Amino acid sequence: MNWVRYLLANGIDMNETAITKELVAICMMGGVIIWIEKDRAVALDALDKVPRGEWPQFIKVGDQKINPSRVEGIFTAQAMEEAGRRKNGEWQCQHGHWHDRFDKCGHRKVLGMVKAKLPNGDVIEYPRYE
Ligand SMILES: [Zn+2]
Repeated sequence: MNWVRYLLANGIDMNETAITKELVAICMMGGVIIWIEKDRAVALDALDKVPRGEWPQFIKVGDQKINPSRVEGIFTAQAMEEAGRRKNGEWQCQHGHWHDRFDKCGHRKVLGMVKAKLPNGDVIEYPRYE
């Protein structure tokens, strides 16, 4: 499942909502994912400071009650997007670009810029690759 597509299909615009309101995904064991504004997950986040034996059975997150011992993690929208891409077979090359499963990386590392003078006197600059 592509998370960007998932968010868009649910009327959530990644760029607008996820970044301005900073949505996080609470991933539950069993596969349920709850998208929520980061501010509303504070109660869950604060459990780090409470010994596990003293955790309440349920924590109110937004209008939902969550069993904290069933939470796998709270992830950023970006982490979810990347996980979705990997699940779809995409991979990220060492230059930071995403490629489809069977794509070869054609990216090259730019070592620096080279200046050259053309016969007409113009100076151009072009990248030098490894
Ligand atoms: Zn690449």
